[in-house]
Amino acid sequence: MQPLPLPALHASHAGTWLREANGETRECSKGEAVMAAADTPLLLMNAPLVASRLGYPDLSGLDVLELFAFVHPAKFCVPTPRGLAHALDLQEPQNDAAVPALLQAAAGALVAACERAEWREREGAWSALQSLARLRWPWAQVLAPHIRKPERAERWLFTRLPEWEETPDRPQPAQVLIEEPEIKAHLERLTGEGAERREGQRHFAAGAGGVFAPRDARRRPHVLLAQAGTGIGKTLGYLAPASLWAAKAGGTVWVSTYTKNLQRQLRRESGRAWPSLRDDGSPPVVVRKGRENYLCLLNLEDALQGGFAGRPAILAHLVARWAAYSQDGDMIGGDLPGWLGTLFRKRGIAALTDQRGECVYAGCPHYRKCFIERSARAAAQADLVIANHALVMVNAARGRDQGGRPTRIVFDEGHHVFDAADSTFSAALTGQEAIELRRWIVGPERGARGRRRGLAARLADIASYDDAGGLAIEAAVRAAQDLPSDGWLGRLAEGAPLGPVESLLAQVRAVTYARDESGQEAGYGIETETAQLPGELVEAALIAAQALAAIRQPLMKLGGRLEAVIEAGPDWLDAAGRARIEGARHSLGWRIDLLAAWEALLGRLGGPADPNFVDWLAVDRNDAREFDVGIHRHWLDPMQPFAKVVLEPAHGIMLTSATLTDRGEEGPDWAHAIARSGAAHLDLVPGQLEAASPFDYAARAEVLIVTDIGRGDLPALAGAYARLIEASDGGVLGLFTAIRRMRAVHGRIADRLARGGLPLYAQHVDPIDTGTLTDIFRDDPRASLLGTDALRDGVDVPGRSLRCVVMESVPWPRPTILHRARRAAAAAALDGGAQRHDDRIIRARLAQAFGRLIRTREDSGHFVLLSPAFPTRLRSAFPEGTPILRVTLDEALQRVAKGVGAAHRDNTDSIAESQQT
Ligand code: SF4
Repeated sequence: MQPLPLPALHASHAGTWLREANGETRECSKGEAVMAAADTPLLLMNAPLVASRLGYPDLSGLDVLELFAFVHPAKFCVPTPRGLAHALDLQEPQNDAAVPALLQAAAGALVAACERAEWREREGAWSALQSLARLRWPWAQVLAPHIRKPERAERWLFTRLPEWEETPDRPQPAQVLIEEPEIKAHLERLTGEGAERREGQRHFAAGAGGVFAPRDARRRPHVLLAQAGTGIGKTLGYLAPASLWAAKAGGTVWVSTYTKNLQRQLRRESGRAWPSLRDDGSPPVVVRKGRENYLCLLNLEDALQGGFAGRPAILAHLVARWAAYSQDGDMIGGDLPGWLGTLFRKRGIAALTDQRGECVYAGCPHYRKCFIERSARAAAQADLVIANHALVMVNAARGRDQGGRPTRIVFDEGHHVFDAADSTFSAALTGQEAIELRRWIVGPERGARGRRRGLAARLADIASYDDAGGLAIEAAVRAAQDLPSDGWLGRLAEGAPLGPVESLLAQVRAVTYARDESGQEAGYGIETETAQLPGELVEAALIAAQALAAIRQPLMKLGGRLEAVIEAGPDWLDAAGRARIEGARHSLGWRIDLLAAWEALLGRLGGPADPNFVDWLAVDRNDAREFDVGIHRHWLDPMQPFAKVVLEPAHGIMLTSATLTDRGEEGPDWAHAIARSGAAHLDLVPGQLEAASPFDYAARAEVLIVTDIGRGDLPALAGAYARLIEASDGGVLGLFTAIRRMRAVHGRIADRLARGGLPLYAQHVDPIDTGTLTDIFRDDPRASLLGTDALRDGVDVPGRSLRCVVMESVPWPRPTILHRARRAAAAAALDGGAQRHDDRIIRARLAQAFGRLIRTREDSGHFVLLSPAFPTRLRSAFPEGTPILRVTLDEALQRVAKGVGAAHRDNTDSIAESQQT
């Protein structure tokens, strides 16, 4: 295996290195590197990242990651030199200067892999390469001599994928009771012989079993709230009764999570309770996601056949390579490398999924091979479905198949159920939403590429068979011309809106700019409440509501006609045709509901406010660039619709989390956790369970409140981050409440740290998706990562890679209109309720952020808060017994450099003293 003799380039925050084809590596200037890349194609890794480091956005070359994606599709690789070396069994580069040689070695190894007889991913490679050569993919020429032409023509992807089988509906689950002794015995089997017996876990598992008991009355599900401290082993704790029940009752248990990390962990742990396949070949455990996550084969076929051009077309061929080897076709968080989309600067991935609900179901030639249909069918037969909160709620609210709706659900990461319900049950009439609806009805606008088609094309056969249906389609298409069209944002800014909905949005925009007093300077979103609206806006809302009704009415008529066609059952309507019309009826149904929700929202403008809802106008902006304008409506208490839609039809529900209850100064606040579960809306009193964490927080963690970094002092903040990262020798997770500040801090310190061999990555700075950033962070114990909210929950990095969490300030809630309304409701319900409301939010955020630090019994580390003002009442956010110290930055640096155990031993007395202050 020879290194590939091509020049190679590497750029980091510490500098830039070039290596000749067969020569030496030398450090060079950014300008020199850019010139070299313009002259001849260079080997590099992650072109967009190198481009951003060089400040030259148009950089291109022979990206080793693209080669990796071609040679080993669906294989995991952390997209760093170190990660690449691990994935290919090469020696890790010791420093930046060694990276260009690694790139040559890695490219050589990948090319050599194509020549080996045992190359697992050979099938389809030669044909794909021919197409990629026509698209002038730079690697095609390099690879061509190494991939031999197969003796027989290769099967096309669409013929190679297996078909799913139609299966009969599963019978109702049997009514069974599972007893505590059998749960505990089963738990012991699952944890394995010789495993340490964890009392917290046994107690938790026994309690969770009650959720699966038969229900005594309609609308009276068993509801259990379980606070499970980190490390008790709650996953197996609920999988033990869940798997027992599924086996005895023949039913399906859904486990819903908030993060993809936990989904992955659940998939792994479920392997203890279930085999990967049953005797009949079906999977007992299925991961189910929203349809927009999966590859749509029809969109892919269109992209491969000319629907995409240039770089997106190359991406489509690499995705086709992956699709043949993918476990389940999941493009977002599945086995498609998260970095692949970013190499192509995000263009293309979304267009290959079914983002807009344009699926034609049985009318699609790939229906029987479709990943989405396969996963939905597998889920209906599964013992365990792993899903996310949003999907479970959407499924309960408007699932296609009543029978397949979940009735036994464990909401893990239960502290997020409120937020998930908040967004699922909200409504927003915005320009982006409205233009999506227009495209779904009318089809894409002129000049758009791709197969996207409107209602008339999708239902052409109905229109020709059923006159009334045809007329309804025509009427809907005509009426939908009143929705916003391409260029609407520009027209709004110029004061020249087209049609009634754009006119309304122009009014919304004008009023929002006139009234917002909070966010104009920052360049981010601005908003204003819907009170005292000017007459022009109210009038525009009335006209827009009429226009929306004019779209909804023919859609309803069409829904009726589709039903009639199914009932009449004409000769040409076979099972596949029926399934397609059922599919169309379903997607029509939820568009009708959407229009009705918009009309209701508009109907209220100018009238008295509905106390159940909070409405506001908003202009969404990013770096002062507008990207959406609209009217929003949220439930004041989203657990009200949650109770109706999810709880009421269920038989057993459990909400569990390490931070389910707020821990105020008086201890856990169960009353609030119960109110947040939605159970009160059904007059239910949920069961409660608590299992404390077995971790020794007193010895393994320290909270340091740094008192000498002034609020708003950016140079001091950046300096503090840099010095803390140096003191801890990397392994720092830095959390920010504002992207702008995070970028500024990163910009000031990344070069300095890189020169010391401490790589620093950041969300919203590096062109890398969050999941991949976390993989990079996990893989390199000297790396540090800066980020915002998504990282507070999504990072699960056990071990040394994460040994210090630094928060820039106390995470106060943003004073949005929605927050203000909920705060006011809390104040009205209780004396001092407003402050308690805010405190709960802050404590929850602190607890989640702190929770990143100690993931296993062996973990230890510091939690640093750079805030001179930290009210004592917030201390209870941290686990009981955790030492909390107020210190200067210098003291904090000393403690971080020493590590927790040492610092703790030396200073037990001073800690005790400081805790009393
Ligand atoms: S059935 Fe629908 S989602 Fe599946 S491939 Fe066909 S059009 Fe795409």
